[in-house]
Amino acid sequence: LAAFALFSKRMLNPVRDVANQLGQASDMAVSAQRVLEVLDLPAEDDSGRPLGEIRGHLRIDHVGFGYDDGPRVLHDVSLEAHPGEHVGVVGASGAGKSTLMQLLVRFYTPTSGTIHIDGHDLSQVSRSSVREQVLLVTQEAQLFDGTVAENIRFGRPEATEEEIAEAARALGAHEVIAGLGEGYRTRVGERGSRLSTGERQLVALTRAMLADPKVIILDEAVSSVDPARQRTVLAAIRRLLEGRTAIVVAHWLTLVEDLDRVFVLEEGRITESGTPVELLTRDSRLAELCKVQTGQSTAQPTGRK
Ligand code: ADP
Ligand code: MG
Repeated sequence: LAAFALFSKRMLNPVRDVANQLGQASDMAVSAQRVLEVLDLPAEDDSGRPLGEIRGHLRIDHVGFGYDDGPRVLHDVSLEAHPGEHVGVVGASGAGKSTLMQLLVRFYTPTSGTIHIDGHDLSQVSRSSVREQVLLVTQEAQLFDGTVAENIRFGRPEATEEEIAEAARALGAHEVIAGLGEGYRTRVGERGSRLSTGERQLVALTRAMLADPKVIILDEAVSSVDPARQRTVLAAIRRLLEGRTAIVVAHWLTLVEDLDRVFVLEEGRITESGTPVELLTRDSRLAELCKVQTGQSTAQPTGRK
């Protein structure tokens, strides 16, 4: 916690940064709040109406955004995801993907345009109520130095050991976790360093499963694909996304091919959109982005003719 204190006091938005440190979870606001109380830092403003139970209809209309006085990083972005739909956002590094994802959980508010969830203007509802139902999973497995079980429980602090194992089983991650040195009691090390990439991803996905959000946002949650765990991780993602609205930022072609619709974001603008089949059957920017990002071992352009 001492390290957090030093690190966080320089941050502009401590809740977001502490949350990024610990990993994203639906109870994130609560957990970050606990850390902030210890640090005596101002909390994020949680004003606004509570968002009632949602079905998961996301609608982004003509959104523009710039950080503080900086240049605009998003321009006229429009995107819709119906309940249960899986939508991809693909683009080069710096295109604005993470910024857009952060707008969806109200880390920031659009400079222009609107975001609606089930018809509710996001800027009018409280942050904590948004995050109870919209979960952002960033970078691969943001784990803290604790046991696997503790890391998973971060998704729902009151969960029992049985519920944790159940979530893992539902994703097909239980065997992998049980097979670790001390199973669920295995210490993951600083940022999960004692686990392989694939194991870290499975822990992070299980955490998200336990949190059980209506809308899930995976922002490069599987940015590098562990060859030994590819199938298990892909199956886990499929099961996690089932029945939820999902926005997936990824370049893993096998995963992108699974999505209902894909949007290509370039320099803050949507330049292509369509089904993966539509976009991948011609020489698209999407095909190029997926190839560059995944490398030969994982880029199997099976959808191309
Ligand atoms: P991507 O996720 O597609 O790589 P980002 O959304 O992270 O892109 O970044 C888009 C642009 O916004 C980049 O130019 C980046 O430098 C800038 N940016 C990202 N985060 C911040 C921030 N917290 N403050 C100021 N500029 C930022
Ligand atoms: Mg990013």
